Amino acid sequence: MKYFAGIDIGSTAIKITIIDENKEMVGHRISGSGSMFYKYAQQTLGDLLKDLNISDEDVCYRVATGYGRKLFKEADENISEITANAIGAVAAAKEFGAIKTIINIGGQDSKAISLDDQGNVVNFAMNDRCAAGTGKFLDACAMNLEIGVEELGERHFNATGTPLSINSTCAVFAESEIIGLLGNSHSVEDIVSGVHYSIAKRIVKLVKRVGVKEGIYFDGGPALNGGLVNAIENEIGQKIFIPKHPQVTTSFGAAILGVDSYNYQNSGL
Ligand code: ADP
Repeated sequence: MKYFAGIDIGSTAIKITIIDENKEMVGHRISGSGSMFYKYAQQTLGDLLKDLNISDEDVCYRVATGYGRKLFKEADENISEITANAIGAVAAAKEFGAIKTIINIGGQDSKAISLDDQGNVVNFAMNDRCAAGTGKFLDACAMNLEIGVEELGERHFNATGTPLSINSTCAVFAESEIIGLLGNSHSVEDIVSGVHYSIAKRIVKLVKRVGVKEGIYFDGGPALNGGLVNAIENEIGQKIFIPKHPQVTTSFGAAILGVDSYNYQNSGL
């Protein structure tokens, strides 16, 4: 069996997906610790292959993507994360049907990508100027509330009443706003839901820049947060599809492109 690797070097984590020649996902790994984490991409790939019992020689093609993709010198090819995200999303959403809009929230940016009927990218909008509406904003809020990011979803659903409004769009100002709300005896749950709705409003604005269509899909680490998903669905007025492994779909897409590139290069054309 031939194997293919997609290596997504994001701003917060490295995500690696291994697929087989039939484009089926065989395994994935997420690693991210420290600001120089990208140095360990090759090591992360080695660890994943070892876990999967696949030898390095059986990996025919490696495609790097993500903001640090040029740092992965061992790649056979590298592609933009917009393209990789679109390819991975279309494949991961097979059972959902056609997707027309991708929302991706990463560690330090958020994107809305519009697709045509064939799954090609027709337009995209990106917020990468500040932490608002990104994973970093969620990380900072969770830290101020002394909870883990993985707890945010559950806390959201235990909120009571109308979600609080969080007006600061800057993570630094949001910190003092959150401390103020805690000082006014607001519960952690109500603050968390306020944070989710404030991000959801920003995301909906981003989606409107590329056009709101039926068939919305959401990935990136924050898509693991069911509370944020709920807030975005309520703000956009549509059910959103979340893939099984939302953090690795961009690396999945890079690996899929690797199969096509490899087959093309070996087809004698
Ligand atoms: P990037 O591609 O930019 O490195 P990711 O798509 O990996 O970013 O997303 C990273 C963000 O995902 C983190 O900042 C964090 O807020 C969020 N995240 C990661 N794991 C979880 C989890 N288990 N539950 C909720 N949010 C998570």
